[in-house]
Amino acid sequence: MARIVIRIPTPLRPLVEGRSGVEVEAGSAREALARLLESNERLRAQLVGDDGELRSYVNVYVGKDNLRDLVEDPELEDGAELSIVPSIAGGGDVGLTADELKRYSRHLLIPEVGLEGQERLKQARVLLIGAGGLGSPLALYLTAAGVGTIGVVDHDEVDLTNLQRQILYDTASVGTSKLRSAAARLRAMNPEVQIRTFETRLESSNALEILDGWDVVADGSDNFPTRYLVNDAAVLLGVPTVYGAIFRFEGQVSVFGAAEGPCYRCLFREPPPPELAPSCAEAGVFGVLPGIVGTIQATEAIKLILGQGRPLVGRLLLIDALRMTFRELSIRRDPDCPVCGESPTITELIDYEEFCGVRPEPDAAASSVPEIDVLELRRWLEQGRAFQLIDVREPYEWQICNLEPQGARLTPMDRLPSLLGELDSGRPLVIYCRTGVRSAHVVDALRAAGFEAVNLKGGIVAWAEAFDPEMPVY
Ligand SMILES: [Zn+2]
Repeated sequence: MARIVIRIPTPLRPLVEGRSGVEVEAGSAREALARLLESNERLRAQLVGDDGELRSYVNVYVGKDNLRDLVEDPELEDGAELSIVPSIAGGGDVGLTADELKRYSRHLLIPEVGLEGQERLKQARVLLIGAGGLGSPLALYLTAAGVGTIGVVDHDEVDLTNLQRQILYDTASVGTSKLRSAAARLRAMNPEVQIRTFETRLESSNALEILDGWDVVADGSDNFPTRYLVNDAAVLLGVPTVYGAIFRFEGQVSVFGAAEGPCYRCLFREPPPPELAPSCAEAGVFGVLPGIVGTIQATEAIKLILGQGRPLVGRLLLIDALRMTFRELSIRRDPDCPVCGESPTITELIDYEEFCGVRPEPDAAASSVPEIDVLELRRWLEQGRAFQLIDVREPYEWQICNLEPQGARLTPMDRLPSLLGELDSGRPLVIYCRTGVRSAHVVDALRAAGFEAVNLKGGIVAWAEAFDPEMPVY
């Protein structure tokens, strides 16, 4: 019998009262191990499988020799050392702790993931653009799956209207930084994952720096300038992008910028004009849809990391949640693509707001038509001034909130031309919508038709903020 010290690795020390080594009396290496485990069921469960053999991801070293490689059970002398080295399939240095082995055990059972795949996930770095509807399921599932480092770029605060779909947040987060809430939630879910936050607006000046060094970018942005910016930056850096987009009940997913695959510009050379590209805030979105699309994006990101399966490279998945159909279109890499083609014209980041026509022109209707603010409107009302107050939103918006008590009348924008004859040309018109953008175009058209019309600056949202905090706004 010899006194043998068994070295315990850090992750297993909680199971042996925090000790770094345990001394046992035994004559051989296997006997020493048996002594250690016979009195410690929890440690045994970590190290030994149901078949009584050491689990495949556990190695025990006798000096410099792996016990697994030794045919005979070596006899040991007083003071000899055994070392338990968990995980590390091929001698890499990533390793999974005992806690991680347990946490990811349902992954380890899948041949396509296994220990090697899980170690790949642990080494992987995925950057999420946006922590909103798509970013929520992306962040939650990638964190749960054990992607080692997850970055999130966002600069918004949580708004009550976000909670219908942005499942990273709860009611108590309203009014606070999205990234602060998100990081706390993700760390609570899986403390093994490093969460890096970039609380900033992604712009041409910072995109290359922020996107550099990630294995995969997952684009959950909600506007065209950011989409083109992310695409171009990722193509320039050679990072694949998992693209997802949503509109009401419809979604799209693809993988852009992979080797040999097309990019977003190969599919959409130019953005639609801003008036044909309403945001979620303007068009609405079915709350579950980003859950479906973001979860598919998370699936694709994990597949790219594992190198398993057939990624959505060169394929655009179209989802219609109302009919519940999934269709697939082929996308080819465009040799003339300005960013990923054979002779690219975009070799550095450009001004994406200008490219997408988002930045209002100085003579755009919104800034050039005569307008009054909500204070002025209230003064007009108090003075009993003769004017007509017209709401040009849609009927479903009118149902949420309106200025009917102030005498407003609903005339949706597209019905206005046919109703011009009913308007009283003797009284000035005050036109409003939600925030004053659509109504500015109406004012422009009305003035061209000879009416005296002014726009309500900031729309009904500004009215609610100034005078009616109880009014439901959207
Ligand atoms: Zn391209």
